[in-house]
Amino acid sequence: MASFVTGAYILSALLFILALAGLSKHETARRGNQFGMAGMALALVSTLLLVLDYLNDDLIADRSSIWVGLVIILVAMTVGAMIGIRLASTVEMTGMPELIAMMHSFVGLAAVLVGYNTYIEVADLSGGAGGSDSVHNAEVFLGVFIGAVTFTGSIVANLKLSARMKSSPLTLPGRHQLNLGILVVSAVLMVWFMLADGWVGMAPLALMTVLALVLGFHLVAAIGGGDMPVVVSMLNSYSGWAAAAAGFMLGNDLLIITGALVGSSGAILSYIMCRAMNRSFISVIAGGFGSDGSLASGSEGDRDYGEHREIQAGDVAELLADAGSVVITPGYGMAVAQAQYPVAELTRKLRAKGVDVRFGIHPVAGRLPGHMNVLLAEAKVPYDIVLEMDEINDDLPDTDVVLVIGANDTVNPAALEEPSSPIAGMPVVEVWKAKDVIVFKRSMATGYAGVQNPLFFKENTQMLFGDAKDKVNEIVAALG
Ligand code: NDP
Repeated sequence: MASFVTGAYILSALLFILALAGLSKHETARRGNQFGMAGMALALVSTLLLVLDYLNDDLIADRSSIWVGLVIILVAMTVGAMIGIRLASTVEMTGMPELIAMMHSFVGLAAVLVGYNTYIEVADLSGGAGGSDSVHNAEVFLGVFIGAVTFTGSIVANLKLSARMKSSPLTLPGRHQLNLGILVVSAVLMVWFMLADGWVGMAPLALMTVLALVLGFHLVAAIGGGDMPVVVSMLNSYSGWAAAAAGFMLGNDLLIITGALVGSSGAILSYIMCRAMNRSFISVIAGGFGSDGSLASGSEGDRDYGEHREIQAGDVAELLADAGSVVITPGYGMAVAQAQYPVAELTRKLRAKGVDVRFGIHPVAGRLPGHMNVLLAEAKVPYDIVLEMDEINDDLPDTDVVLVIGANDTVNPAALEEPSSPIAGMPVVEVWKAKDVIVFKRSMATGYAGVQNPLFFKENTQMLFGDAKDKVNEIVAALG
């Protein structure tokens, strides 16, 4: 049985690698997901077989406890699966980021619980005498540390993404020193933990857990709204390392491999996000990222940019019918309005009239990496006209009309023109370089980073107020 399970684990690991490879391209993403689901199903079934195999172990005297354990696992899996299926089938696309942040927090919590459990078991605290080895203790300490940071960090990310906590950064005085202090004290506690035996070891472990929980909370609370994409991908990576640490503690090779895959792919995604946001990867790793307080959200809010101009859907339809080239730049508002289907219909109509229509996608548009690409793929917009920000920016000066559909921060010229802006330095889709810009939104409200957008007041910009889906539908109808 053990060799069968080893074989199944290797196959699962291969399926996870194929899943990651599939997810790297739009065309193969669905297949990638299927590989991932097959790998996880195989991993679960083979791990259950491993538990059943203990029944044949002559050294185990009390077989009834294995049956009890198995029943508990099956009940927990059934309840978990029911909650998971319900959440997955009811969650709105716009609610995905906070759901994912919540999932990351579960991985962190699991690593903490596994750490305590294996320490209690291996150190044989119930029997009194300590029998733990130092390698295992190091695994437990690091696993609990990473798990606790991931747990509270992900909860703060969940609260910020669901707007239940202010997205502006919490800038405590000496916050970098506070983070560094926690790391140093945790290192000292680790030495104490490695030297301690039995129950005594619980003291440094518990103290470190409290410090790591505070560190996770503080690291993410200190990040400003505009930098949240980096946080989401970093927590994704941390949750992978937490899972890998749990794998080491449990001696489960597949959990180590899976955790390492998630951890390293999350780290690569964080690097890509850092480049997109023009942030230094090293400073992110060191936790010294985000706004420094002097750039807190809203500092530009009082500036007078002048008057904005409005336009109606019928006039936009006329402008589009006369255009030779159109670029559509979607943002979070397209996801909120679920406007991707009428946008796809508008694209078909314009292309049928001979208009060159393309999409320009900012890497952090929406609330998830790849958010816009997923929505457009869902609405069957051809992949070859969906371009990255870097690919479209050079063509914008030669573009007749840009439709900004529910995007705000990602098309904000303040990022390039105002050094004191909270989003200063972030590359943006330079839509204002086109001949005409139409901005679809419901009001003059700011975007996620909470900063005013001078684009709305430029001479070649006109605002089309209302729900993006309704407005695009009106334009489609007016085009006939
Ligand atoms: P923003 O969040 O900056 O702006 C979205 C705009 O959509 C709002 O100004 C809103 O204006 C408008 N809107 C909302 N609902 C509707 C609707 N029904 N119809 C029409 N318009 C609507 O979006 P961007 O995509 O430009 O920027 C993403 C932001 O999110 C960035 O700051 C990024 O850093 C952050 N972020 C991104 C993550 C990622 O991984 N992609 C993760 C976490 C944060 P109004 O209310 O007036 O309608």
